[in-house]
Amino acid sequence: MANNPNHYEVIIVGGGPAGLTAGIYTARARLRSLLIEKGLVGGQIINAERLDNYPGFPEGISGFELGELMHQQATKYGLETIIAEVTGIKLQDKQKVVETTDGNFVARAVIIAGGSRRQKLGIPGEEEFTGQGVSYCATCDAAFFRELPIAVVGGGNAAITEALHLAKFASRVTVIHRRDQLRATRMLQEKAFSEPKIEFLWNTVVEKIEGGDLVNRIKLRQVKTGEESTLDISGIFISVGLSPNTDYLKGILPLDDHGAIITSNTMETEIAGIFAAGDIRQNSVRQAIAAAGDGATAAINAEKFLT
Ligand SMILES: Cc1cc2nc3c(=O)[nH]c(=O)nc-3n(C[C@H](O)[C@H](O)[C@H](O)COP(=O)(O)OP(=O)(O)OC[C@H]3O[C@@H](n4cnc5c(N)ncnc54)[C@H](O)[C@@H]3O)c2cc1C
Repeated sequence: MANNPNHYEVIIVGGGPAGLTAGIYTARARLRSLLIEKGLVGGQIINAERLDNYPGFPEGISGFELGELMHQQATKYGLETIIAEVTGIKLQDKQKVVETTDGNFVARAVIIAGGSRRQKLGIPGEEEFTGQGVSYCATCDAAFFRELPIAVVGGGNAAITEALHLAKFASRVTVIHRRDQLRATRMLQEKAFSEPKIEFLWNTVVEKIEGGDLVNRIKLRQVKTGEESTLDISGIFISVGLSPNTDYLKGILPLDDHGAIITSNTMETEIAGIFAAGDIRQNSVRQAIAAAGDGATAAINAEKFLT
Protein backbone atom coordinates (compact mmCIF):
# COMPACT_ATOMS: atom_id res chain seq x y z
CA MET A 1 0.00 0.00 0.00
CA ALA A 2 2.76 2.42 0.94
CA ASN A 3 4.06 2.25 -2.64
CA ASN A 4 0.77 2.95 -4.31
CA PRO A 5 -0.39 6.56 -4.00
CA ASN A 6 -3.98 5.59 -4.86
CA HIS A 7 -4.26 3.08 -2.02
CA TYR A 8 -5.66 4.19 1.34
CA GLU A 9 -6.89 2.55 4.51
CA VAL A 10 -10.13 4.54 4.51
CA ILE A 11 -11.89 6.42 1.72
CA ILE A 12 -14.65 8.85 2.65
CA VAL A 13 -17.18 9.89 0.00
CA GLY A 14 -18.54 13.39 0.63
CA GLY A 15 -17.20 16.40 2.49
CA GLY A 16 -20.23 17.49 4.57
CA PRO A 17 -20.40 17.32 8.38
CA ALA A 18 -20.62 13.49 8.31
CA GLY A 19 -17.63 12.98 6.00
CA LEU A 20 -15.49 15.66 7.63
CA THR A 21 -16.13 14.31 11.12
CA ALA A 22 -15.33 10.79 9.91
CA GLY A 23 -12.13 12.27 8.47
CA ILE A 24 -11.15 13.89 11.78
CA TYR A 25 -11.54 10.52 13.51
CA THR A 26 -9.86 8.27 10.94
CA ALA A 27 -6.96 10.63 10.29
CA ARG A 28 -6.47 11.18 14.01
CA ALA A 29 -6.43 7.37 14.41
CA ARG A 30 -3.47 7.47 12.00
CA LEU A 31 -5.33 5.65 9.25
CA ARG A 32 -4.29 6.81 5.80
CA SER A 33 -7.51 8.56 4.79
CA LEU A 34 -8.79 10.17 1.60
CA LEU A 35 -11.91 12.32 1.37
CA ILE A 36 -13.48 12.67 -2.08
CA GLU A 37 -15.81 15.64 -2.59
CA LYS A 38 -17.48 16.51 -5.86
CA GLY A 39 -18.40 20.10 -5.02
CA LEU A 40 -17.46 22.41 -2.17
CA VAL A 41 -16.13 20.99 1.07
CA GLY A 42 -18.67 21.72 3.83
CA GLY A 43 -21.67 20.05 2.17
CA GLN A 44 -25.17 21.41 2.58
CA ILE A 45 -24.36 23.53 5.62
CA ILE A 46 -22.61 26.02 3.37
CA ASN A 47 -26.16 27.00 2.33
CA ALA A 48 -27.11 27.77 5.93
CA GLU A 49 -26.44 31.41 6.72
CA ARG A 50 -26.25 30.55 10.40
CA LEU A 51 -26.61 27.38 12.44
CA ASP A 52 -28.11 28.15 15.83
CA ASN A 53 -28.34 24.56 16.99
CA TYR A 54 -24.80 23.25 16.52
CA PRO A 55 -23.40 22.70 20.04
CA GLY A 56 -20.50 24.87 21.11
CA PHE A 57 -21.55 28.06 19.34
CA PRO A 58 -23.98 29.94 21.61
CA GLU A 59 -24.12 32.87 19.19
CA GLY A 60 -24.56 30.57 16.18
CA ILE A 61 -22.03 30.00 13.41
CA SER A 62 -22.18 30.41 9.64
CA GLY A 63 -22.44 27.09 7.85
CA PHE A 64 -19.56 28.04 5.58
CA GLU A 65 -17.28 28.78 8.54
CA LEU A 66 -18.26 25.57 10.34
CA GLY A 67 -17.44 23.53 7.23
CA GLU A 68 -14.07 25.30 6.88
CA LEU A 69 -13.20 24.68 10.53
CA MET A 70 -14.10 20.98 10.29
CA HIS A 71 -11.97 20.62 7.18
CA GLN A 72 -9.01 22.43 8.80
CA GLN A 73 -9.27 20.14 11.81
CA ALA A 74 -9.30 16.98 9.69
CA THR A 75 -6.48 18.21 7.44
CA LYS A 76 -4.38 19.02 10.52
CA TYR A 77 -4.49 15.32 11.41
CA GLY A 78 -3.51 14.26 7.89
CA LEU A 79 -6.77 13.79 5.97
CA GLU A 80 -6.17 14.11 2.24
CA THR A 81 -8.89 15.67 0.08
CA ILE A 82 -9.49 15.55 -3.65
CA ILE A 83 -12.25 17.16 -5.69
CA ALA A 84 -13.85 14.49 -7.89
CA GLU A 85 -17.17 12.73 -8.23
CA VAL A 86 -17.48 9.13 -7.12
CA THR A 87 -19.24 7.22 -9.90
CA GLY A 88 -19.07 3.63 -8.62
CA ILE A 89 -17.71 1.24 -6.02
CA LYS A 90 -16.49 -2.23 -6.92
CA LEU A 91 -15.45 -5.05 -4.63
CA GLN A 92 -12.09 -6.68 -5.35
CA ASP A 93 -11.19 -9.37 -2.84
CA LYS A 94 -11.11 -7.51 0.46
CA GLN A 95 -10.51 -4.16 -1.19
CA LYS A 96 -13.05 -1.62 -2.41
CA VAL A 97 -12.26 0.15 -5.65
CA VAL A 98 -13.77 3.62 -5.60
CA GLU A 99 -14.26 4.85 -9.16
CA THR A 100 -14.18 8.61 -9.67
CA THR A 101 -14.02 11.20 -12.41
CA ASP A 102 -10.34 11.53 -11.46
CA GLY A 103 -9.38 7.85 -11.57
CA ASN A 104 -9.74 4.90 -9.23
CA PHE A 105 -8.81 4.79 -5.55
CA VAL A 106 -8.60 1.69 -3.37
CA ALA A 107 -9.22 1.09 0.34
CA ARG A 108 -10.37 -1.70 2.63
CA ALA A 109 -12.89 0.57 4.35
CA VAL A 110 -15.20 3.09 2.72
CA ILE A 111 -17.46 5.56 4.51
CA ILE A 112 -20.23 6.90 2.30
CA ALA A 113 -21.33 10.35 3.45
CA GLY A 114 -22.74 11.80 0.24
CA GLY A 115 -25.74 13.55 1.82
CA SER A 116 -28.81 14.45 -0.16
CA ARG A 117 -29.99 16.85 -2.84
CA ARG A 118 -33.13 18.89 -3.37
CA GLN A 119 -36.10 17.15 -4.92
CA LYS A 120 -37.61 18.72 -8.00
CA LEU A 121 -41.29 19.54 -8.44
CA GLY A 122 -41.34 17.96 -11.89
CA ILE A 123 -43.61 20.63 -13.38
CA PRO A 124 -43.49 22.42 -16.74
CA GLY A 125 -41.03 25.31 -16.78
CA GLU A 126 -38.93 24.01 -13.86
CA GLU A 127 -36.03 22.68 -15.93
CA GLU A 128 -36.30 25.43 -18.55
CA PHE A 129 -36.03 28.27 -15.99
CA THR A 130 -33.49 26.70 -13.62
CA GLY A 131 -30.91 29.45 -13.14
CA GLN A 132 -33.30 31.94 -14.81
CA GLY A 133 -35.51 32.46 -11.76
CA VAL A 134 -35.89 28.88 -10.52
CA SER A 135 -33.46 28.14 -7.69
CA TYR A 136 -32.80 25.41 -5.11
CA CYS A 137 -30.42 27.49 -2.97
CA ALA A 138 -31.49 30.73 -1.29
CA THR A 139 -28.05 31.49 0.13
CA CYS A 140 -26.54 31.22 -3.35
CA ASP A 141 -29.14 33.23 -5.25
CA ALA A 142 -31.00 35.55 -2.83
CA ALA A 143 -29.02 38.63 -3.84
CA PHE A 144 -30.32 38.39 -7.43
CA PHE A 145 -33.83 39.18 -6.17
CA ARG A 146 -33.36 42.51 -4.36
CA GLU A 147 -36.71 44.31 -4.09
CA LEU A 148 -38.38 41.71 -6.30
CA PRO A 149 -41.35 39.46 -5.44
CA ILE A 150 -40.46 35.80 -5.05
CA ALA A 151 -42.07 32.51 -3.98
CA VAL A 152 -40.77 29.69 -1.79
CA VAL A 153 -42.32 26.25 -2.25
CA GLY A 154 -42.33 23.97 0.81
CA GLY A 155 -43.15 23.99 4.51
CA GLY A 156 -40.24 22.27 6.26
CA ASN A 157 -37.23 23.67 8.13
CA ALA A 158 -35.17 24.28 5.01
CA ALA A 159 -38.04 26.09 3.20
CA ILE A 160 -38.77 28.40 6.14
CA THR A 161 -35.08 29.08 6.81
CA GLU A 162 -34.78 30.06 3.16
CA ALA A 163 -37.93 32.23 3.25
CA LEU A 164 -36.52 34.13 6.25
CA HIS A 165 -33.21 34.65 4.48
CA LEU A 166 -34.91 35.75 1.25
CA ALA A 167 -37.09 38.26 3.14
CA LYS A 168 -33.92 40.30 3.71
CA PHE A 169 -33.63 40.86 -0.04
CA ALA A 170 -36.98 40.42 -1.77
CA SER A 171 -39.89 42.89 -1.77
CA ARG A 172 -42.30 40.05 -0.90
CA VAL A 173 -41.89 36.32 -0.16
CA THR A 174 -44.90 34.10 -0.75
CA VAL A 175 -44.54 30.69 0.89
CA ILE A 176 -46.61 28.15 -1.03
CA HIS A 177 -47.39 24.99 0.89
CA ARG A 178 -49.57 22.07 -0.14
CA ARG A 179 -50.81 21.51 3.41
CA ASP A 180 -52.59 23.81 5.88
CA GLN A 181 -49.72 23.94 8.36
CA LEU A 182 -45.94 24.01 8.30
CA ARG A 183 -43.64 21.14 9.26
CA ALA A 184 -40.87 23.53 10.35
CA THR A 185 -39.97 23.84 14.04
CA ARG A 186 -42.11 26.16 16.19
CA MET A 187 -39.26 28.63 16.56
CA LEU A 188 -38.88 28.97 12.79
CA GLN A 189 -42.65 29.24 12.36
CA GLU A 190 -42.85 32.04 14.92
CA LYS A 191 -40.08 33.93 13.14
CA ALA A 192 -41.76 33.49 9.75
CA PHE A 193 -45.24 34.48 10.98
CA SER A 194 -43.85 37.68 12.49
CA GLU A 195 -41.89 38.68 9.36
CA PRO A 196 -44.05 41.27 7.57
CA LYS A 197 -42.60 40.49 4.13
CA ILE A 198 -43.60 36.81 4.29
CA GLU A 199 -47.10 35.72 3.33
CA PHE A 200 -48.54 32.21 3.04
CA LEU A 201 -50.65 30.39 0.48
CA TRP A 202 -51.98 27.23 2.16
CA ASN A 203 -53.25 24.04 0.49
CA THR A 204 -51.76 25.25 -2.75
CA VAL A 205 -49.51 23.65 -5.34
CA VAL A 206 -47.53 25.15 -8.21
CA GLU A 207 -48.58 23.68 -11.55
CA LYS A 208 -46.48 25.62 -14.03
CA ILE A 209 -43.64 28.13 -14.14
CA GLU A 210 -43.84 30.70 -16.93
CA GLY A 211 -41.83 33.62 -18.28
CA GLY A 212 -39.86 35.03 -21.18
CA ASP A 213 -36.10 35.00 -20.76
CA LEU A 214 -36.67 34.93 -16.99
CA VAL A 215 -39.48 33.67 -14.77
CA ASN A 216 -42.34 36.16 -14.38
CA ARG A 217 -45.32 34.17 -13.10
CA ILE A 218 -46.48 30.83 -11.73
CA LYS A 219 -49.76 29.01 -12.11
CA LEU A 220 -51.26 27.71 -8.87
CA ARG A 221 -54.04 25.33 -7.84
CA GLN A 222 -55.81 25.27 -4.49
CA VAL A 223 -55.87 21.55 -3.69
CA LYS A 224 -59.12 21.64 -1.69
CA THR A 225 -61.26 23.77 -4.01
CA GLY A 226 -59.45 23.10 -7.29
CA GLU A 227 -59.45 26.87 -7.91
CA GLU A 228 -56.69 28.00 -10.26
CA SER A 229 -54.81 31.30 -10.03
CA THR A 230 -51.68 33.09 -11.19
CA LEU A 231 -49.00 34.79 -9.09
CA ASP A 232 -46.58 37.33 -10.57
CA ILE A 233 -43.07 36.68 -9.25
CA SER A 234 -39.46 37.10 -10.38
CA GLY A 235 -38.06 34.04 -8.67
CA ILE A 236 -39.16 30.72 -7.22
CA PHE A 237 -37.14 28.79 -4.63
CA ILE A 238 -38.03 25.10 -4.42
CA SER A 239 -37.54 23.32 -1.10
CA VAL A 240 -39.87 20.32 -1.09
CA GLY A 241 -37.70 17.53 0.22
CA LEU A 242 -34.45 15.73 -0.25
CA SER A 243 -33.29 12.66 -2.17
CA PRO A 244 -30.22 10.74 -0.97
CA ASN A 245 -27.27 10.93 -3.40
CA THR A 246 -27.20 7.20 -4.03
CA ASP A 247 -27.85 6.83 -7.77
CA TYR A 248 -24.42 5.26 -8.35
CA LEU A 249 -24.98 2.77 -5.50
CA LYS A 250 -28.09 1.07 -6.88
CA GLY A 251 -27.41 -2.65 -7.14
CA ILE A 252 -24.29 -2.32 -4.97
CA LEU A 253 -25.77 -1.57 -1.55
CA PRO A 254 -29.20 -2.22 -0.04
CA LEU A 255 -31.26 1.00 -0.25
CA ASP A 256 -34.73 1.71 1.15
CA ASP A 257 -37.73 2.86 -0.90
CA HIS A 258 -36.49 6.47 -0.76
CA GLY A 259 -33.01 5.51 -1.95
CA ALA A 260 -31.41 5.94 1.50
CA ILE A 261 -28.67 3.52 2.56
CA ILE A 262 -29.73 0.94 5.13
CA THR A 263 -27.24 0.65 8.00
CA SER A 264 -27.01 -0.95 11.40
CA ASN A 265 -26.70 1.34 14.41
CA THR A 266 -22.93 1.04 14.01
CA MET A 267 -23.31 2.64 10.54
CA GLU A 268 -22.31 -0.62 8.83
CA THR A 269 -23.98 -1.64 5.59
CA GLU A 270 -24.55 -5.19 4.47
CA ILE A 271 -21.10 -5.20 2.88
CA ALA A 272 -18.28 -5.62 5.39
CA GLY A 273 -16.07 -2.54 5.38
CA ILE A 274 -18.62 -0.21 3.75
CA PHE A 275 -20.20 2.26 6.16
CA ALA A 276 -22.68 5.08 5.63
CA ALA A 277 -23.19 8.25 7.67
CA GLY A 278 -25.33 11.38 7.74
CA ASP A 279 -28.29 12.46 5.59
CA ILE A 280 -27.65 9.64 3.12
CA ARG A 281 -28.64 6.88 5.50
CA GLN A 282 -32.08 5.58 6.36
CA ASN A 283 -33.87 7.36 9.24
CA SER A 284 -31.39 10.22 9.35
CA VAL A 285 -32.82 13.25 11.16
CA ARG A 286 -30.98 15.42 8.61
CA GLN A 287 -29.23 17.76 10.96
CA ALA A 288 -25.56 18.72 10.97
CA ILE A 289 -24.86 17.48 14.50
CA ALA A 290 -26.53 14.13 13.80
CA ALA A 291 -24.50 13.79 10.59
CA ALA A 292 -21.32 14.55 12.54
CA GLY A 293 -22.30 11.94 15.15
CA ASP A 294 -22.89 9.35 12.43
CA GLY A 295 -19.50 10.22 10.94
CA ALA A 296 -17.77 9.61 14.27
CA THR A 297 -19.61 6.30 14.76
CA ALA A 298 -18.76 5.15 11.24
CA ALA A 299 -15.09 6.11 11.63
CA ILE A 300 -14.66 4.35 14.98
CA ASN A 301 -16.25 1.19 13.57
CA ALA A 302 -14.17 1.44 10.39
CA GLU A 303 -11.08 1.55 12.58
CA LYS A 304 -12.29 -1.54 14.47
CA PHE A 305 -12.96 -3.28 11.16
CA LEU A 306 -9.44 -2.54 9.91
CA THR A 307 -7.66 -3.58 13.06
C1 LIG B 1 -30.64 25.88 3.75
C2 LIG B 1 -30.27 24.83 4.76
C3 LIG B 1 -30.22 25.15 6.12
C4 LIG B 1 -29.88 24.20 7.06
N1 LIG B 1 -29.82 24.57 8.37
C5 LIG B 1 -29.43 23.67 9.29
C6 LIG B 1 -29.30 24.06 10.67
O1 LIG B 1 -29.55 25.21 11.05
N2 LIG B 1 -28.89 23.12 11.56
C7 LIG B 1 -28.61 21.83 11.19
O2 LIG B 1 -28.22 21.04 12.04
N3 LIG B 1 -28.74 21.44 9.91
C8 LIG B 1 -29.14 22.33 8.95
N4 LIG B 1 -29.28 21.93 7.64
C9 LIG B 1 -29.12 20.49 7.33
C10 LIG B 1 -27.65 20.09 7.26
O3 LIG B 1 -27.01 20.95 6.35
C11 LIG B 1 -27.51 18.63 6.84
O4 LIG B 1 -28.22 17.79 7.71
C12 LIG B 1 -26.05 18.18 6.84
O5 LIG B 1 -25.28 19.03 6.01
C13 LIG B 1 -25.92 16.74 6.37
O6 LIG B 1 -24.57 16.42 6.37
P1 LIG B 1 -23.98 15.21 5.50
O7 LIG B 1 -22.52 15.26 5.71
O8 LIG B 1 -24.72 13.99 5.78
O9 LIG B 1 -24.34 15.57 3.99
P2 LIG B 1 -24.11 16.88 3.11
O10 LIG B 1 -23.95 18.08 3.94
O11 LIG B 1 -25.19 16.84 2.09
O12 LIG B 1 -22.72 16.62 2.40
C14 LIG B 1 -22.57 15.60 1.45
C15 LIG B 1 -21.44 15.96 0.51
O13 LIG B 1 -21.18 14.85 -0.33
C16 LIG B 1 -20.90 15.30 -1.63
N5 LIG B 1 -21.20 14.22 -2.58
C17 LIG B 1 -22.40 13.65 -2.82
N6 LIG B 1 -22.30 12.67 -3.74
C18 LIG B 1 -20.98 12.60 -4.07
C19 LIG B 1 -20.24 11.80 -4.98
N7 LIG B 1 -20.84 10.85 -5.74
N8 LIG B 1 -18.91 12.01 -5.09
C20 LIG B 1 -18.29 12.96 -4.33
N9 LIG B 1 -18.96 13.77 -3.46
C21 LIG B 1 -20.28 13.58 -3.32
C22 LIG B 1 -21.80 16.51 -1.81
O14 LIG B 1 -21.29 17.40 -2.79
C23 LIG B 1 -21.77 17.13 -0.40
O15 LIG B 1 -20.78 18.12 -0.27
C24 LIG B 1 -29.60 22.86 6.66
C25 LIG B 1 -29.64 22.53 5.30
C26 LIG B 1 -29.98 23.48 4.36
C27 LIG B 1 -30.01 23.11 2.90
